[in-house]
Amino acid sequence: MEKPVAPPQPPKVLVVDDEKQNRDLLAELLRNDCRVILAKNGIQAIERAHELHPDLILLDVMMPDMNGHQVIQALKHDDATRQIPVIFISALDSPEDEEHGLDLGAVDYITKPFHPSIVRKRVRNHLQSVHHRHLLENLAKIDSLTEIANRRRYDEALESEWRRCARNNSPLSLIIIDVDHFKAYNDRLGHAAGDMILRTIAIALKGFMRRPGDLAARYGGEEFVLLLPQVDARAASHIAGDIRAAVEQMQLAHPASPVSPYVTISLGGMTTQPYDGQVDPQFFRDADAALYAAKAQGRNRVVWQTTAG
Ligand code: GH3
Ligand code: MG
Ligand code: MG
Repeated sequence: MEKPVAPPQPPKVLVVDDEKQNRDLLAELLRNDCRVILAKNGIQAIERAHELHPDLILLDVMMPDMNGHQVIQALKHDDATRQIPVIFISALDSPEDEEHGLDLGAVDYITKPFHPSIVRKRVRNHLQSVHHRHLLENLAKIDSLTEIANRRRYDEALESEWRRCARNNSPLSLIIIDVDHFKAYNDRLGHAAGDMILRTIAIALKGFMRRPGDLAARYGGEEFVLLLPQVDARAASHIAGDIRAAVEQMQLAHPASPVSPYVTISLGGMTTQPYDGQVDPQFFRDADAALYAAKAQGRNRVVWQTTAG
């Protein structure tokens, strides 16, 4: 069952200018291309950038209190806002001013008084680049064979879910899944048939992502993971059992398996209570040890790690 795809959001552009007239002009100019967010000083600009993650920032240079140069430096010093491209819009129009602005990390420099149609076109071009960058970043996190998340995406999700569960004092569960006797499957039926099995298992696994933070990923080779934030050991081990049964019930012939006439999987799981700080590598090791135990006990089964090893 595919989840409904959310309609694409228009890009967000943050316009920073101390003069209301300029803000209004730019907002009017850009309103068909994006959602415009306004800030009237540097402090507000930094706050809004943090809160709303705009796709692009149009930044005035000369402002009282905190000028545009100080604002861009603050943005570039912060991991949360560093990636957001900034275009300076300034009445300082010498080549030195422009060079200085670009040196500070701006992607473009527009001088005032500006030509409305040129501002609009430049903004469109930059939003196009941002869009392409996002597409590439997302592609780099998808496994090409199975089209589910890859290990990179899993690693990122683990980090953010670890922090979120630590904050909320909620459990985090991990299931590691490995196809049984898969080498023998490939040897008997060929690598292409093996690839089909991996795709089929990936599709089945996707069906077990039922809540927003859940993530199914191909960890590598014939190993998959399912990350389940805010799911306790009882519920997660139940899900693992359902996954095992779902794969067996697909009855994908495995003529070379000593375990079953069909393709089966072994699953190891672990639930932990994340705490502040870095992801504890023991979490994965514990789930992996459970998987190893599932293999040793005869495969086609779930072993849940009950105490941290
Ligand atoms: P076990 O039940 O102990 O897990 O045995 P196994 O044969 O599945 O495990 P082993 O680690 O010995 O072999 C894993 C096999 O998975 C070997 C490799 O050819 C196969 N494999 C890994 N990645 C892919 C892939 O992308 N496509 C295909 N077709 N096979 C793959
Ligand atoms: Mg393996
Ligand atoms: Mg295997």
